[in-house]
Amino acid sequence: MQAKELYELTIHEAHELLKRRQISSLELTKAVLKRIAEVESKVHACVTVVEDIALEEAEKVDNHIKTTGEVAPLTGIPALIKDAICTKAIRTTCGSRMLEDFVPPYDATVIEKLKAQKAIVVGKTNLDEFAMGSSTEHSAFFPTRNPWDLSRVPGGSSGGSAVAVSAGEAIYALGSDTGGSIRQPAGFCNVVAFRPTYGLVSRFGLVAFASSLDQIGPVTRDVTDCALVMNAMAGYDPRDSTSVPRPVPDYTRQLTASIKGLKLGIPREYLVEGMEDGVRTALEAAVAKLRELGAEMDWGASLPHTKYALAAYYILAPSEASANLARYDGVKYGFSEPGGSGVIETTERTRQFGFGPEVKRRIMLGTYALSAGYYDAYYLKAQKVRTLIKQEFDRAFERYDALITPTSPTVPFRLGERLEDPVQMYLSDACTLPVSIAGMPAISIPGGFADNLPVGMQIIGKPFSEETLLRIAFAYEQATDWHKRRPPLSRE
Ligand code: GLN
Repeated sequence: MQAKELYELTIHEAHELLKRRQISSLELTKAVLKRIAEVESKVHACVTVVEDIALEEAEKVDNHIKTTGEVAPLTGIPALIKDAICTKAIRTTCGSRMLEDFVPPYDATVIEKLKAQKAIVVGKTNLDEFAMGSSTEHSAFFPTRNPWDLSRVPGGSSGGSAVAVSAGEAIYALGSDTGGSIRQPAGFCNVVAFRPTYGLVSRFGLVAFASSLDQIGPVTRDVTDCALVMNAMAGYDPRDSTSVPRPVPDYTRQLTASIKGLKLGIPREYLVEGMEDGVRTALEAAVAKLRELGAEMDWGASLPHTKYALAAYYILAPSEASANLARYDGVKYGFSEPGGSGVIETTERTRQFGFGPEVKRRIMLGTYALSAGYYDAYYLKAQKVRTLIKQEFDRAFERYDALITPTSPTVPFRLGERLEDPVQMYLSDACTLPVSIAGMPAISIPGGFADNLPVGMQIIGKPFSEETLLRIAFAYEQATDWHKRRPPLSRE
């Protein structure tokens, strides 16, 4: 096998080399920056690259390693951050004109935690505006392209983060997931991504979309790296009132344990209409592989309320978004459209020009669902459906240790293909939305290829079963080679 370039390393490989002083953080950071310079014009994954800051930090870290000998798992390793996560002194746009020039005066908790390990932030990745979308085409700046086929979307909304890790622009990245935004792009780009149990990772400093659904997670090249980033990020944070106070295990601890005897269900409702044959074939092969590894596989699992998840999500998420996005009034911070006479006109003009069409669609949907006379029929009803879906998952997890589904019903679609039809776009999250609604954790890992395009496999677990999910994912990864495949971008 051809030797790996520095930018192709995993976190744990880079860590070993840093610890043994065979490479420096500066070399690694330079390699990543060079790669960004080479491929960015093709994939457009980054909104902001902070070359000077990254190089300066890398030098500091190298000195720190030299003087103290301390090398934590993320020390000196370059990461890219979804541009919905606040980074002190680095512009955080959330893919919107509204925040195009917004420079946060503070770091999100997850960023503080990465920095506590002396991680290197090299920049911010592209996303659908305010994380609303499934293709990264709703970014106010430019669409991101899938490195496996540049005419196709990378998924979204964390498309930039998935592409960055897949194309070698960072060793790992952070993304966020409201209805599937970290898992679906990971599946489309052949990388690993984790949506933690709601409340496990602090949302402080994540630009709010739908607060009862939003979670931050890692995007990595393998499952071990995913566990390492989870180790750094998980844990109680008094600044997030939904953060859960409970001890955080070492997520690498159970990775190598056997999965023999685990009961895994494949819910039949996830084999949805419109699922592509290639995705189904990949799922069947993955199920056979897990069976070979000793797991008990059951195609008879059933979650009948799944079919209501999409409708419920598109009431709940826009409702919360309409409240969260009320803060963008052109007065406090962010974009302000001049020329209005008085506060009301200024607010109207700011929101008219500051938000893109998908964001406006969500605000209108949400405002409608929450308005007097419609609240009970829409919002309250959707909350009830949410409870039913959650209870159904709870019951399923009395029988199964985890559930297996494809991450998305299709392989990456072409740019433009679903832009004119919002419902088609929404359907690409059919397998990820129910999990978000129920607050469950789920991981997406490389699960095969169909027509040379990646297929993601999703493993869903009960709340706080992160270790079990990582263990199943690791066992599968060790038994397959999908995660080793790299996209056909030039190495030069
Ligand atoms: N695609 C879904 C939406 O548009 C999910 C987005 C997300 O998880 N942020 O709402």
